[in-house]
Amino acid sequence: MVSAKSVPHVAFLAFPFGTHASPLFSLARALAADAPSTAFSFFNSARSNSSLLQSLPSGLPPNLRTFDVPDNVPEGTWLPPVEVRLFLEVTPGNFLETMAAAEGEFGRVTCVVGDAFLWFAGDVAAERGASWVALWTGGPCSLAAHLYTDLLRDTFGVEDQVVYISFGTVIMPSPQELTEMAAGLEASGVPFLWSLKDMARKHLPEGFLDRVAGRGLVVPWAPQTQVLGHLAVGAFLTHCGWNSVLESISCGVPLICRPFFGDQCLNAKTVSCVWEIGVAFESRTMEKEDMVRVLNVVLKTEEGKKMSEKADKLKTTALQATKPGGNSIKNFDTLVKMIVGNHGS
Ligand code: UDP
Repeated sequence: MVSAKSVPHVAFLAFPFGTHASPLFSLARALAADAPSTAFSFFNSARSNSSLLQSLPSGLPPNLRTFDVPDNVPEGTWLPPVEVRLFLEVTPGNFLETMAAAEGEFGRVTCVVGDAFLWFAGDVAAERGASWVALWTGGPCSLAAHLYTDLLRDTFGVEDQVVYISFGTVIMPSPQELTEMAAGLEASGVPFLWSLKDMARKHLPEGFLDRVAGRGLVVPWAPQTQVLGHLAVGAFLTHCGWNSVLESISCGVPLICRPFFGDQCLNAKTVSCVWEIGVAFESRTMEKEDMVRVLNVVLKTEEGKKMSEKADKLKTTALQATKPGGNSIKNFDTLVKMIVGNHGS
């Protein structure tokens, strides 16, 4: 066994589920056999290490040692997603602790070879000034899908367009209307993100969240401007508060208006009848069928496409207004002159 602390020390960080650890272990054995004066440490859960070692026809090369990393999975757990979650809860601390022991024995790690699932392996290497090699144990197509996600989105768009729903900071539709909206969302099959205050969740139909899991998310607060700017958002169901209307326009997202009072009603009318960038429900509550119909119109028909195009044109106008020489900037300059005269310049 290599024990001098000045030799190169390569640390393998395994993802101990499925068949991930096995190809990494094969690589470790091949490298260790090829570089007998380098120390190799293989960090993996006790269970996975034991199964890898059991299946070995011969022993390990003398310069390769396995180390058991605590996996945080109680005995008897046999549900892969639960095991993975428990394991990830204690990473990277479990690896770091075990690595410290190995480094005490073989010296500082000079190279980290990690399963590509363990994103922190790069940081572990950087902290030591070590090189980092990530092993992807799947096929190249799935790796390319990860590496080029943004390019794929930009090129092909997003097929199913995440409706975003929010009624601002004050408005709360009646329990009955919330129930109808939820039923409509469920029946429409549309992916959605719903910013809904926690106290209103109890009005959602029983089992709703389970049934829409995977395509719908209900959160108590959302970063609205970022959400509206995401390519996957094809419509915004809103109470038509002025900020929400402006934010939707700035992102070119058509609106489904359910105004409640005050200027919201006029805003909804302007959106639907003047700018023609959305549809409006005025002075009446939404029912399940309304929701299904209106989502279909905005997201899936020619009419909705035209709304989207008009919203996109308004977006360009809005963005130009806030560029140097744009109307908003000129108005701001005028305001500054009115308030501070020429003293400010
Ligand atoms: N907002 C947000 N996340 C949420 C809900 C609301 O960021 O989950 C923000 C939204 O971006 C907007 C404001 O809260 O800027 C709501 O303003 P608006 O004038 O539309 O409605 P109000 O709350 O005044 O009725």
